[in-house]
Amino acid sequence: MAKTLLSALPDGDLRGRRILVRADLNVPLSHGRVSDDTRIQACLPTLRRLTDAGGRVVLLSHLGRPKGTVNPEYSLAPVARALDDALEAPVRFVADLVGPEARAAVESLGDGEILLLENTRFDPRETANDPSLAEALAGYGELYVNDAFGTAHRAHASTEGVARVVRAAGGRAVAGLLLEKELTFLGEALDDPERPFVGVLGGAKISGKIDVVEALLPRVDRLLVGGAMANTFFLAMGLEVGDSLVEPDRVDMARDLLDRAGDKLLLPVDVRVAREIAPDADVRIVPRSEVAAGDRIGDVGPDTEALFADEIRSARTVVWNGPMGVFELDPFRHGTGHLARAVAEAADAGAVTVLGGGDSAAAAEVAGVAERLTHISTGGGASLELLAGRSLPGIDALSDGEAS
Ligand code: ADP
Ligand code: MG
Repeated sequence: MAKTLLSALPDGDLRGRRILVRADLNVPLSHGRVSDDTRIQACLPTLRRLTDAGGRVVLLSHLGRPKGTVNPEYSLAPVARALDDALEAPVRFVADLVGPEARAAVESLGDGEILLLENTRFDPRETANDPSLAEALAGYGELYVNDAFGTAHRAHASTEGVARVVRAAGGRAVAGLLLEKELTFLGEALDDPERPFVGVLGGAKISGKIDVVEALLPRVDRLLVGGAMANTFFLAMGLEVGDSLVEPDRVDMARDLLDRAGDKLLLPVDVRVAREIAPDADVRIVPRSEVAAGDRIGDVGPDTEALFADEIRSARTVVWNGPMGVFELDPFRHGTGHLARAVAEAADAGAVTVLGGGDSAAAAEVAGVAERLTHISTGGGASLELLAGRSLPGIDALSDGEAS
């Protein structure tokens, strides 16, 4: 069932109200500074919407894995400073979550102000989804906005628990603007895609993405598989893979998928191999049937690049998760770069192009095409769950939308 969206609420529902917002501000820090502010940028639309309308924003996030204890290394203080810079508006911060200091700061919030509280995971009740923490947090506002897509697949007190408590008390729990965007592109768009619909999967392991393969297969017109994932399929086809990264315990599964997929599934026809996956590797390009003992497959080959790019350029919808090779190393980044450019060309030609996965997003940045794609998901695990067609606890717990 569709959920209530922040974008559907009028200013009158926000002005002068205390609004509890769960964002994903789990950013990388180095030497006490935010070293990549992608996630901060991603939550700005929701924060601006709320403050422009005169809401009083109580902001929650986790950072890292402090494991239920207070650890200054994981304080959100530097994040408050970065948020302050990005918004060009004052962001207050208190190093407290549900104690007297936090409560006093919440009480004193004025219209259009933002208060960031301390790391939710300093409290062991957060990951345990303890109702007592959810209740304390719910006391901060009668409207709850979840914009933390990256943690929507976890049932924690500040995601799932608090939403239920707010609703039980007669308040509303709604999806923020970022969450709405993720749901639109990773959820609904795939239910009724414009065709041809091409799925592209790669990355290190087939095991972590098997549910995605299963969910995409019946929906797509073509499924292109590269990366180390393809190696396990090669094994299932009886091909030599040398010392490549494979999952021998998944070979039966791969064989079963090959049988069922028929010609929907396209695998690399040639590969880049080397004796070592290293920055100075000596790379050879060989047909997939000519990988030798001792070789390691590090990337797809040029014929595969052309084959995959043709499929992608003629698509109207592309969903891509997982790089085609070890794109972190120069000798093995070619296939992923070529694919990224093909996806960007499809996007330029009007196709809906959606990218999920942390490494894939990094690969799109490296290839310089990130801005041209329709949507790059901000969640790793959560985006895989959505692509696999599963519901996410943090989203399930929100208020149902009015039937339209
Ligand atoms: P994402 O984060 O986009 O979901 P994954 O985490 O599943 O992607 O996979 C990314 C990793 O897969 C990268 O670190 C990349 O080096 C690795 N990888 C891709 N192809 C190969 C290969 N042929 N051999 C070894 N590792 C590979
Ligand atoms: Mg990854």
